[in-house]
Amino acid sequence: MENTQGKTNFIRNIVAEDLKEGRCKQVITRFPPEPNGYLHIGHAKSIILNFELADEFDGKTNLRFDDTNPLKESTEYVKSIKEDVKWLGYDWDNMCFASDYFDEMYKRAILLIKKEKAYVCDLTSDQIREYRGTLTEPGTESPYRNRSIDENLSLFSRMQKGEFKDGEKVLRAKIDMSSPNINMRDPILYRISHTEHHNTRDKWCIYPMYDFAHPLEDAIEGVTHSICTLEFEDHRPLYDWIINECEMENRPHQYEFARLNLTNTVMSKRKLKSLVDGNYVDGWDDPRMPTIAGLRRKGYTPEAVRNFCREIGVAKASSIVDERMLEHFVREDLLPKVPRTMAVMKPIKVIITNYPEGKIEMLTAENNLDDPNAGVREIPFSREIYIDSADFMENPPKKYYRLYKGNEVRLKNAYFVKCNEVIKDDDGNVVELHCTYDPETKSGSGFKGRKVKGTIQWVEASNAVPAEFRLYEPLILDEALKESEDENKSFLDFVNPNSLEVLHGFVEPYVKNAKPQDKFQFVRIGFFNVDPKYTENNKLVFNRIVSLKSSFKIDKK
Ligand code: ATP
Ligand code: MG
Repeated sequence: MENTQGKTNFIRNIVAEDLKEGRCKQVITRFPPEPNGYLHIGHAKSIILNFELADEFDGKTNLRFDDTNPLKESTEYVKSIKEDVKWLGYDWDNMCFASDYFDEMYKRAILLIKKEKAYVCDLTSDQIREYRGTLTEPGTESPYRNRSIDENLSLFSRMQKGEFKDGEKVLRAKIDMSSPNINMRDPILYRISHTEHHNTRDKWCIYPMYDFAHPLEDAIEGVTHSICTLEFEDHRPLYDWIINECEMENRPHQYEFARLNLTNTVMSKRKLKSLVDGNYVDGWDDPRMPTIAGLRRKGYTPEAVRNFCREIGVAKASSIVDERMLEHFVREDLLPKVPRTMAVMKPIKVIITNYPEGKIEMLTAENNLDDPNAGVREIPFSREIYIDSADFMENPPKKYYRLYKGNEVRLKNAYFVKCNEVIKDDDGNVVELHCTYDPETKSGSGFKGRKVKGTIQWVEASNAVPAEFRLYEPLILDEALKESEDENKSFLDFVNPNSLEVLHGFVEPYVKNAKPQDKFQFVRIGFFNVDPKYTENNKLVFNRIVSLKSSFKIDKK
C-alpha cells in the first residue's frame, strides 16, 4: 500500500494494525471544524492527516461541522471552510452537521436520565465551578444530584420547551465528583441558550456541549478513528463513557496528536478573530494571516501546504515549527512552476544617452531556467528604462557591484551599461541616471571582452506597466512576546507595526494581462501573486509570496 504521507506516524500505524487484525473493516475519519471562524494552517495539518489516512486505506472522510454553539457560528464560516478544504485538494464523502443529529442527541440524553446517569442541575455556572473542586481537592456533589428520574425527565422536557431562561438549568452527567479526572466530575451535557441557530433556526433552545455531542456525532457517522489534538487527551475517558452509556452501536476511538504551532503568528480562531475585529488586518483573508484564505491570497499553493504538513509529520509531543520551513516549501514548489520576469519596485529613471532616440529593440529572455519547457519571451529595450533605486548608490561601500557613477553593470537579458552622470532635483534627490551602453555586450552574443560583477533587472520605460507591490513581514513579534514579563499585555500588544510595506513601481509588459492569483518570480526580488482583492482592470497589485532565498535550512534525514 502506498504511504502518501511520505513517512509513517503512530496514528497511521494504529489504523494499519486495526485493519490487519480485523478490528475495523473500513477506516472512517472526519474533519470536524466548528464554523466559528476561518480555517488556519493548523487545521490544514488535521485535514491532511484525516483525508490522507482514509485515502491510503480506501476509507472515507466526512467533513463535519461541529455546530453546537449558535452564538459564535455562521454560514459565512461554513462556506469558507468548504472552499478551503477543496482548495487544499480534498473532497469529503459526506458533508454533515452536528445540528442534524440534535434529535438523536436529545433522545440519548433522555436515555441517560432513564438510566440515572444524568440529572438536571439548578446550580449557577459559578457554583458549578466552585463545586467542581481542583486538581488536588475532590468536588462536592450538587444538591440536585439525586432528583428522581421522573422529575429529571419533566425538567429536561421543560428546558427543551423553553420554559427556563439561559443559565437557569443544565443537564449534567452523573459520574463521579471525586474522580481524579476533573472532566468526569458530572460534566454538563446540555445548556439553555435562546439563540437562533444557523441551521435549526429557533427549533432548539437547548444545545449539547462539545464533550457530549462529539462522541455521538462520531458514533452516528460510523467514524472508526476520531483524531483530535492533545488537549482532549483528558477528555477521552468521558468520550468513552458517553459512547458506552448512550449505548451507541458504533464505537469510535479517539486518538490525540500535537497541534501545529508556527513562529511569529497566532493559531487560534479566537485570536485570529480579534485581529480581524480590531482591524489589525483587512479581514480573515489578509495575506499576513495564517488562515488558509490568507495564505491563498498571499499566493501559497496547496501543494506547498501539503508538502509542509507531510514533512512536519504527526507526533504526540508539542512543538513550534519555524515559519521559514513553510516558506521553504512554497519556494520549492514555485521555483519550477512560475515564469521569471522583471519588475522594479522603487523605480529610478535611466537614460542611455548613446542609444538612438525613438528606437525600440526586442530582446529575448528565458522564461524559467528551471523549466526547460517554459520557453522564451520578447522584451522591449530602448533609450529610457527604469531600474530599482536599491541597485544604485551614490557613495557605495567596498565590494558594491551594482550601479554607481563610473561603474559598469549588466542589465539582465540586455547590455552592459556604465553610469556617467547622476541628475538630482533641487532638493538633492537622485532623479535620473545617465548611462551609456556597449552594443557589443548584448546578452547571448557570446561577448568575451571584459567582465562585470553585477547584474541588475530593469523595465523599458514606454512599455512599463505600473504596479503596486505589497511586501509582508511577520504579523506577531515573537521574540518581544516571549521576553515580555508584563502579564497585562496580550498578543495584540505584539502585533508588528511594520508587517506591511506598499511600494509603487513597474513590471514588464509580459505581465500586463495577469489575472488574480497568477504567480511570477520577479528576478532578484521574490515570488509574487496577483492580489485578488485589490487588483482592478487597470491596476495590478502584487503580494510578495516569499523572498527568493533564506538562511533557513531544513534537515534532509
Ligand atoms: P481553534 O482554537 O483555532 O478554534 P479548534 O481546535 O477549536 O481550534 P476546531 O474547529 O474545533 O478548532 O478544529 C477542527 C479540527 O482541527 C479539530 O480536530 C482540531 O483538533 C484540529 N485543529 C485545530 N487547530 C489545530 C492545530 N493548530 N494543529 C492541528 N490540528 C488542529
Ligand atoms: Mg474551538
